[in-house]
Amino acid sequence: MAEVSFKRDLNSKRTSYIDWDEYFMAIAFLSAKRSKDPCTQVGACIVNNDKRIVGIGYNGMPMRCDDDEFPWGKSSRNSLDTKYLYVCHAEINAVLNKNSSDVKDCTIYVALFPCNECAKVIIQSGIKTVIYMSDKNAHKVETIAAKKMFDAADIKYRQYIPKNQKIEINFSDINWNEMSQLPQTPTKQGD
Ligand SMILES: [Zn+2]
Repeated sequence: MAEVSFKRDLNSKRTSYIDWDEYFMAIAFLSAKRSKDPCTQVGACIVNNDKRIVGIGYNGMPMRCDDDEFPWGKSSRNSLDTKYLYVCHAEINAVLNKNSSDVKDCTIYVALFPCNECAKVIIQSGIKTVIYMSDKNAHKVETIAAKKMFDAADIKYRQYIPKNQKIEINFSDINWNEMSQLPQTPTKQGD
């Protein structure tokens, strides 16, 4: 049987790898998977000018506010029984979770265009660039207000268009076969 060759040149630099935007947006998406929100899982990743991640967050209840006790619903006769009054958005959590002294001049990667409340935090924290994936709430006043503030505060924002629709992480894919094809170092008996 003829062997189909997919072999890479193991002596040259790999050409198929994810670029920075893809990497940071994927981290925002991975972080979103931690969210317990039944409707919208959103993640955010803040990166400094050295391409170092300085903050990650996802939408969730504030610390010590039990996410089994607080409401996750969007509508109720009593607004106190909806999530809106309680949930911390991903952007706010990412800023507050920062592992650097500040996030001045940083870039924030977010799945969804920030709302007006997050826009205020983004501006006040010194973040200069917003890279978002979806603008599905563009018609909502929260998004319109956010853009108005970003424009006034000279915050750059741009949509990220993914090159790949999917990045797969397969824990069992650690190239064991390929590694076993590499020349083995002879081991002496008794080593
Ligand atoms: Zn928000």
